[in-house]
Amino acid sequence: MSDNTKSICIIVPAYNEEVVIQEFYNRLITVLDKLPGYLWHILFVNDGSEDGTQNVIESLAKVDTRISYIGFSRNFGKEIAMTAGLDYADGDAVIIIDADLQDPPELIVDMVAGWEQGFDSVYATRLSRQGENWLKLFTATQFYRVIQRISKTKIPEDTGDFRLLSRRAVNALKRLREHHRFMKGLFTWIGYPSKSIAYHRDARFAGNTNFRFWRLWNFALEGITSFTIAPLKIATYFGITTALLSFIYGIWIIFKTLAFGDPVQGFPTLIVTNLFLGGLQLVFIGIIGEYLGRVFNESKQRPLYLVQTFHSGNMKLQCDTDK
Ligand code: UDP
Ligand code: MG
Repeated sequence: MSDNTKSICIIVPAYNEEVVIQEFYNRLITVLDKLPGYLWHILFVNDGSEDGTQNVIESLAKVDTRISYIGFSRNFGKEIAMTAGLDYADGDAVIIIDADLQDPPELIVDMVAGWEQGFDSVYATRLSRQGENWLKLFTATQFYRVIQRISKTKIPEDTGDFRLLSRRAVNALKRLREHHRFMKGLFTWIGYPSKSIAYHRDARFAGNTNFRFWRLWNFALEGITSFTIAPLKIATYFGITTALLSFIYGIWIIFKTLAFGDPVQGFPTLIVTNLFLGGLQLVFIGIIGEYLGRVFNESKQRPLYLVQTFHSGNMKLQCDTDK
């Protein structure tokens, strides 16, 4: 291949995916064979899997030099796994794709075409989601609606992490070292020309999703707290409104006492307002706590992940142990 062949690295975060990786690989290389003009790399990020994922990846890497891998010392979560992928990947562009075949590899052809047109970020937007229950769909929609409204970073709806990023977009992302990483938001935050491609999201090929409801809730909290301080402002305005209303109410009571005397009533009103305000204060302290806790975590400046194993195939891993 000539020297000006463009190289593209496919980043695959994998956590307990031993049953799907082989099938994923088969489908992926069929697509890569359709695009012979590029130098391909595949970078698996084994996110501390407890099953045989590592063995499957290693045996694939033995027969295909396009495969490189890094393995974490424990499970750090998908956001961090993607970050490590971006840190280590070489290439003129990278593509992030799930290992479970919910992101159809066939879309890579369109992504590369978008990149060739000059887009820095070509992301896949879901038209439908197979095999996911209504609760997950409903909460996802609501989440996007809320975050669109309260944050300046307009995170596109129904968009996952499946995307192609140009080298300059990757370099921009590498400069964002925050610990509370909401990648979907970070991808949008960097700006640069981007393009969406629509697709139908398939059900998982095999295995189980690693996202439970509680995790999704925390994911939503992460999204909101890392992209907007709107909840803190809401607290301020709520406080101002309440103070103003109680002032007016106070004047009314003084007037009433002067005009009609003071028959000492109103125990129910007293207890209700007390409890209501007490509750409200706790909620807002909780919100402040969410932000404060994040400041605490960021201030520790721990490394984002620890790499235990790595192997480079035809790609020179950009390894810098100081991550
Ligand atoms: N994943 C990961 N670390 C985790 C959880 C998931 O690297 O802690 C990977 C997983 O192997 C898959 C992708 O992230 O390639 C998406 O995970 P999953 O299918 O569980 O999520 P969903 O499709 O339900 O969003
Ligand atoms: Mg999945």
